[in-house]
Amino acid sequence: MARKRLERLERVQGRRKRLYALMAGVAVVALAGATFGVSLLLRQPASAVVPEEGGYEATATLVADETMSVLTTRSPDVLVEVPSVVGLQISEAEMMLGAVGLAVRRMPTPPGEETSGSVLAQAPPAGERVTGDTTIVLVYADPAACRPDVASLVADGEHVVCIDPGHQLVANAGTEPLGPGSTEMKPKVSGGAVGVVTKQTEYDLALALSLKIKERLESNGVRVVLTRVSNSVNITNAQRALVANESGADLFVRVHADTHTNADVRGVATLYPSGNTWVAPIEAASLKAAQMVHAELLASSGATDRGIVKRADIVGFNWATVPSILVETGFLTNPMDDKALADPAYQDKIADGIARGVLAYLEE
Ligand SMILES: [Zn+2]
Repeated sequence: MARKRLERLERVQGRRKRLYALMAGVAVVALAGATFGVSLLLRQPASAVVPEEGGYEATATLVADETMSVLTTRSPDVLVEVPSVVGLQISEAEMMLGAVGLAVRRMPTPPGEETSGSVLAQAPPAGERVTGDTTIVLVYADPAACRPDVASLVADGEHVVCIDPGHQLVANAGTEPLGPGSTEMKPKVSGGAVGVVTKQTEYDLALALSLKIKERLESNGVRVVLTRVSNSVNITNAQRALVANESGADLFVRVHADTHTNADVRGVATLYPSGNTWVAPIEAASLKAAQMVHAELLASSGATDRGIVKRADIVGFNWATVPSILVETGFLTNPMDDKALADPAYQDKIADGIARGVLAYLEE
């Protein structure tokens, strides 16, 4: 564990060095009074100056204002390579992205064990080439507010749905309470299943499906909040429920795929919270949503019916205060389900079914 943390620290240090080297490059341009565009600036050697640790702050403060006057170009005609900012403080990340002309949208999330202010995920990811008018979404740890900005943007009568793509790239083996005030602990979040034939990962699949569902809901006027937009995040199951709560969602939809020791087992199931005092207030509405989504999902996918299942032991339900469901979209341990789920056309059917069920629930 200690070694992992050290490696991560080293990566962050590396990013900091690149950031301040870049800022130093900007300062040179600014002082020369030049009005170079973003693409030209990118060709500046980033290794111009790498100040020692401790000397950083002064350099950064000095150039911050100059940056604004030089880099006003946010052009769709310029291609920019997105720098890696995960692990940096949010203010540093904004400075770094600002230095290459990219705008930032902040997405606060509960911090868990992460340092307050540190960036947990970015979208688009590092290394991707984007146009200069792209806005980079940064998910960062914020103990004070985990409410995504969306709440203030929601129009009267507009519906909000929070979608949680299950799992993430790196599992977090730490534990968290089963529900608010519980002494029973459960793992924070796991990496999820892997396809027996295709080797697709559950976290990848869940994100792909979630984005498809999001697209369908948005085209029907629904405001959608995703708990994650990248696989490189560290968001526990309880935190995911808190994001749904804070976004004021009418429904919390969690997207997963299943596993079984028997490879013949296949099909879709829809889970809903039931059987403890935490979820009593949301049980009836969750069941209703589960029934509607499950019916539409079966109709559009033609998948084997594994039923609607009540669960009292799911952390991501027990922390939720808004109606919640979890859709198991198929078994990655079953060769046929696995292959079908890897097919974009079948993914569309799954997304169609879930979106239709959600819309039917929202209309009630
Ligand atoms: Zn799962």
